[in-house]
This record gives sequence, C-alpha cells and structure tokens, in this order.
Amino acid sequence: MDSTTLRENFKDKKRIVVKVGTSSLTHPETGLTDLITMEKLVRELTDLHNRGKEVILVSSGAIAVGRKTIGMKERPTRLSTKQACASIGQARLMMMYQKLFMEYNQVAAQILMTKNTLVNGENRMNARNTFEMLLTMGAIPIVNENDTISTYEIQFGDNDTLSAVVAALVQADLLILLSDIDGLFTDDPNKNPQAQFIEYVEHVDRHFEKMGKGSASDVGTGGMSTKLKAAKLATSAGADMVIANGADMGIIHRIVDGQRAGTVFRANRTEDFYLIDYLDEPTA
Ligand code: GLU
Repeated sequence: MDSTTLRENFKDKKRIVVKVGTSSLTHPETGLTDLITMEKLVRELTDLHNRGKEVILVSSGAIAVGRKTIGMKERPTRLSTKQACASIGQARLMMMYQKLFMEYNQVAAQILMTKNTLVNGENRMNARNTFEMLLTMGAIPIVNENDTISTYEIQFGDNDTLSAVVAALVQADLLILLSDIDGLFTDDPNKNPQAQFIEYVEHVDRHFEKMGKGSASDVGTGGMSTKLKAAKLATSAGADMVIANGADMGIIHRIVDGQRAGTVFRANRTEDFYLIDYLDEPTA
C-alpha cells in the first residue's frame, strides 16, 4: 500500500492516541507553559471526539511544570527531585487540562502508569478495563507516567514508549506522536543540512532503527531513537503511527483528514504480539 492510500484511511480510524511532548507544551525561551498551544491541542482533541472518535492523550510536562512552579532554574537530575517536581507539576497540568476541556464540555480523566502496570497481568487487565470504561463513558483519558513513584526499576522513562504501550494496550488504530521535529530524517537535521526527510516507513527494520538519534531538547526525554522504538512497538501491535511537528496543533486534524504531514509508519501486526517483550530492561 502506498502512503497516500494509507493516509486516506486515517479518516476512518476509530481509536486514536495522541502524544504530546514537553517541548510542544512549553515556550523554549522561558520553559513556561505555552497556553495557546495547549488550548489548541484541547480544541483539536475535542473536535476529534465530536467526530465520533475515541481519543486518548498522552501528555508529558509534569516535571517541567513542577520545576517552574517552584522556580527551579536547572533541570532536575536527582530522582527524588524529579519525583517531587512531577508531583507538583502533574496536579497543575491536570488543572489546566480540566479547565480547558471543561470549556468545551468534555470530560477529562487522569491515568498514571508505571511499567509495573503492564508487567503484572492483573494490573494490566485492570488498566485496560479502565481505559475501555472511560472511552465508553465518552471521557478523554489523559495519561502520563506515574513519575512520583516510578523508580528506575519500574519506569518507562519516556512518553514515546508510554504512548506506544497505551496504543498497544487499548488496541488503538492510530498513534500520533507530536514533537519538535517534522518527522524522521536520514540524519539529525539540526546538525546535518543534507539530512533527507522520510515521508513513509513501511516496515521499521534495522535500517530505520539506526537513524535514531538522542534528544536535542532541554526539556523532553525522548529523541528519535525512542520514537523509532515506539514505532516498532505500535506498528507490531497493529496501529499505524505518525511522527509530526506539534508546533501547530492544527496538524492533528490534517493528519486525520489524510493530508501529507509528518512521517507515517504502517501497521504490521505481529501475530504473536506480546507487549511485555517490547519493554526494555531497566538501565540503571
Ligand atoms: N513523564 C515526564 C513528565 O511528565 C515526561 C517524560 C518525557 O518527556 O517523555 O514530565
């Protein structure tokens, strides 16, 4: 299937996960919340919902919002500091989302997960049931890692992975990863002007995995390598995926309308797909 046909099908997708990174939600100059972007994001998601789609948002930003709330200049490195910032920031972040979603008469719900939520079969089933029930109720689940309690042993570490995990868990049809880059390039376009944009990935193989580079951003934790891992996970679970630039949140409806935006990855459902196989061992 060519990418045009694949994108045309996006109009019919029923269950859509959208992931937004800290870099899209904050102003680079100050690190403070970009309220206009956040407001547009909420409007776009509400509109998808109004079109009859089931929508799940995976939002980063807890640590960044917490850090700014207490006036911390440097990005926290100690685990306990990150956890405390996340605790303050997650509540603030949800307060902002609740306020904005309420303006559009939408019910937002919070789900915080750790890796244990998936590794433990009972927890995994409970999480899946909760998602299903919230979607049946017409709510928009807003997901983040439970940074406040997740230590190295039980953390995903980045929300690119988390969003692919959520897409797999709820058997979403489409995952949209919004970042500060237009999509996948043959090399880091910030460093190599010759880097070529890749519009379509039919199969995430070793060739593509090698293109992953680390994070260039001062706020997020995901780089291209976590996005490619997420693509491997989500496509193997049976979801199409798009990596696109969240600088203009209007890109969400353009993607769902089938327009050419970002890099699209085609679903390649693995018959014996088992979510746990795709999670990394703890690194620290
Ligand atoms: N869970 C982290 C937060 O909300 C973000 C992780 C990420 O940037 O991928 O701050």
